Amino acid sequence: MAIRFTDACIGCGACEPICPFAAIEMKDGKAYNTEACTSCGACVDVCPVGAIVREAEEKKTAVNKDDYRHVWVYLELSDGRPRNVGLELLGEGRKLADAMGQQLAAVVLGERGAAEAGVKEAFAYGADKVYLVEGEAYKHYNTDAFTSAFADLIETHKPSVVLIGATNDGRDLAPRIACRVKTGLTADCTDLGIDEATGLVAWTRPAFGGNIMATILCADHRPQMGTVRPNVFKRPAPDYGRSGEVVVVAGKVGPQDARVKFIDLLRVCTASCNLEEAEVIVSGGRGMCNRENFALLEQLAEVLGGTVGASRAAVDAGWQSALQQVGQSGKTVGPKIYFAFGISGAIQHLAGMSSSDVVIAINKDPDAPIFKVADYGVVGDAMEILPIMIEEFKKLKGK
Ligand code: FAD
Ligand code: SF4
Ligand code: SF4
Repeated sequence: MAIRFTDACIGCGACEPICPFAAIEMKDGKAYNTEACTSCGACVDVCPVGAIVREAEEKKTAVNKDDYRHVWVYLELSDGRPRNVGLELLGEGRKLADAMGQQLAAVVLGERGAAEAGVKEAFAYGADKVYLVEGEAYKHYNTDAFTSAFADLIETHKPSVVLIGATNDGRDLAPRIACRVKTGLTADCTDLGIDEATGLVAWTRPAFGGNIMATILCADHRPQMGTVRPNVFKRPAPDYGRSGEVVVVAGKVGPQDARVKFIDLLRVCTASCNLEEAEVIVSGGRGMCNRENFALLEQLAEVLGGTVGASRAAVDAGWQSALQQVGQSGKTVGPKIYFAFGISGAIQHLAGMSSSDVVIAINKDPDAPIFKVADYGVVGDAMEILPIMIEEFKKLKGK
C-alpha cells in the first residue's frame, strides 16, 4: 500500500503533527509526503477532506520463478569452524530440499585455504554441493563484502530458498542480501515447513510479542529467504563419509571496495558467555535479588563447566550484561541442562529456552509458571539451595 496526497488538500495542516516519521511537509498551501514516509497510514483518517489516499501498489513479479531451484544454507564460520546454527539449518534444509525434490547447497565464505573445515562439515551435515567464496576480503565478516558476494551468487545460480542463521552477523547480512536481490525476508523464524496448497516454504515466527505465531509465504519473489534463530532445530547426525561438488568462486570484492573496514577484533565475550553453544546454562532472574548473588550462579556454572544466563528482569536491573539474556529479545539456547534460579517463566523467557533437553527450576513460589516446563523443580530460596548444590556437585565431581 502506498500513501498519496492528492490535489484535494485544503492545507489545513491537521495531518502534519500526526505523522510519527515527520514525513509530511507543507508547500504552497498543500501537504506532501516526503521520502521518509513509511506508508503507515496514520494520517489518512485525520484529513477532513479525504485528500490522503491509500493506493494499492502495482504488484511486480520481477523474476521468472521457474528459473529458481534448490535450497541454500549459509554456513557461517567463526574462527574457521562452522557455527552450530548453520549445521542445524543444513538438517532443516535437507528436509525442505527432499520435500521439494531439489538439491541442498551450503554457502561458505572465507579466507583462501581457511574454509576447508566448513566444506567438510557441510557435506557431513547433508549438503549436496558447496559454493565456496574465497578471498582476503572474507577473512572476517564484512557487511559490504559478504553482501556483495552472496548477492552475486544468488543472481548467478538462482536458488529457490536461502536459509541464514539469526546470529549477529546473519541478522546484518540477510536483510541486505534480500534487499539487493529484491526479495522478502522472514526474520527470526522458529519453524519451517512446506505449505501444502502452494508448495512454498512456510516460514513461522512469533508476532505481537510472541502472543501469536504467524506463518509467512513468499509468493511472488525469489529466492524465498529467512533467518532462523540458533538452537531452534537440533543438529542432524553427521556422516563424514558424504561428499559432493565444490564450486569455488573467486571473490570479486577487494578490501578496498568495502565501505566497512575491519580494524581489530575485540573479544568482549569469552567462551564462558557463549550461551548459544553452551551445554549447561545456569540462569538467574529477579529472584536472585541482587548482582552479588550472581556470584553463586557463577560458582555453580564453573563446577558444571557451564555458562551463566539471565532473565530480562536481571539484565534490566543491571545485574548481568545483555549478552547473557535468554528469551525472545535475547538469545535462544538449547543446552543439555538449563537451570532457572528465581525466574518466574514468562512466555518471553520460555521462548528462548524451551528447547533445552532438561530444565531444572528453583523458585520459592510453588505456582511459578516455570514449573510447568521444568523436568525437575525445587521449591525454596535460591540463595539457600545454591550453596548446597555447589557442594554436592563438587563432591560428585570429586568422585
Ligand atoms: P519475575 O517475573 O519478577 O520473577 C521472579 C521470580 O523469582 C518469581 O517467580 C519469584 O517467585 C522468584 N523468586 C523471588 N525470590 C526468590 C528466591 N529468593 N528464591 C527463589 N525464587 C525467588 N524476559 C526474558 O527473560 N527474556 C526476554 O528475552 C524477554 N523479552 C521480552 C520481550 C518483550 C516484548 C516483553 C514485553 C517482555 C520480555 N521479557 C523477556 C520480560 C518477561 O515478560 C518477564 O518480565 C521477565 O522474564 C521476568 O523476569 P524474571 O522471571 O527474572 O522476574
Ligand atoms: Fe507520515 Fe504515515 Fe502519513 Fe506517511 S502514511 S505521511 S509516514 S503518517
Ligand atoms: Fe491537506 Fe488533509 Fe493534510 Fe489538511 S489533513 S493538510 S487537507 S492532506
